[in-house]
Amino acid sequence: MTSTARTIGFKPQERNIFFHLLTACNLSCRHCYINTTQHGTGMVSKQTMAAWLSLFYEPSKESNVIFLGGEPTLHPDLDHGIKTARKLGYHSITVDTNGYLHHDLLSKIGPDEAVLSFSLDGPSPEVNDPIRGKGVFTTCSENLKKAAKLGFKISVIYTVSRLNIDHLHKMPQLLAEWGVSRFFIQVIGLRGKSAGETGNELQLTPAEWLQTVPPIAAQAAKHGLEVVYPKVFLDPNEPFQCAGNVAENYFIFPNGRVYRCPLCEDYPLHALRIEENHLIKNVGITEEQLFTLSIPEGCVMNKLLQPGNLSYNTDGSPKHRISCCLLKQQIKG
Ligand code: SF4
Ligand code: SF4
Repeated sequence: MTSTARTIGFKPQERNIFFHLLTACNLSCRHCYINTTQHGTGMVSKQTMAAWLSLFYEPSKESNVIFLGGEPTLHPDLDHGIKTARKLGYHSITVDTNGYLHHDLLSKIGPDEAVLSFSLDGPSPEVNDPIRGKGVFTTCSENLKKAAKLGFKISVIYTVSRLNIDHLHKMPQLLAEWGVSRFFIQVIGLRGKSAGETGNELQLTPAEWLQTVPPIAAQAAKHGLEVVYPKVFLDPNEPFQCAGNVAENYFIFPNGRVYRCPLCEDYPLHALRIEENHLIKNVGITEEQLFTLSIPEGCVMNKLLQPGNLSYNTDGSPKHRISCCLLKQQIKG
């Protein structure tokens, strides 16, 4: 049986909360997207965590929360946040972790309470550790296997760059052996540290992405994994949609900034802010004005931040339109 990728369209009846509990981390990955200049070095308190979960929970929609950092397991009250989200009625709760699982998280929550999403950027210490740090592969993979044994649903995020694209093909079998159910192949972006001088060396060309990622995703699906990866290049007849206009995504930071588009996070363009546990719309120039612009290249923020993704025909029209970075392809085994 062959599996084909389908585009996961934006769902107006869904609300996704990307909750950055803190910006601190015990690692220092080469492509880290955390920007403390914009988002500070603070950490939400236990009370604020509960109040903001309640603020963003919308009972008439399928509300999903993803706890992020920095490293979210460094927060001593993450387990309380997970339990609060469950009580409120969140449809899905995910923790995106670097694999260190601080504060003994596995002993504080049950396997039905959250999905654990581990970041790994290589199938071995030789590939992963130069990107994520010495000893990270061993710690992350051991904790992943421990969590899988306990019955947690496990997802792995692999951020593809020049440094590890040649090793991506080794991941499907490894993840299947470890009991991983979902494989998210992420593309290196130009946010945070990647936006600095090393960004261009790490970034893939469109040809490298298209030749490598979809075939390996199909291979992973054959191993029984659910595979998700960004669409990046729209097919000629596919409509362009900006998630800022048609979907409900909120990227929340501990300093109270709330973005609707992750590509805007390196700038003070946030559409909303939280003050005294109330959500307030910002006035003046914000990301919302960018969402209304219509250009032949597709995503406006991509054109501003990653113009290297674009190429043009002799008549000046773009060869490919770039999709919203939140549009995903999915293949299920
Ligand atoms: S684990 Fe995440 S937050 Fe920590 S350094 Fe790496 S990319 Fe940054
Ligand atoms: S990535 Fe582009 S298309 Fe998607 S929300 Fe941001 S501006 Fe809109």
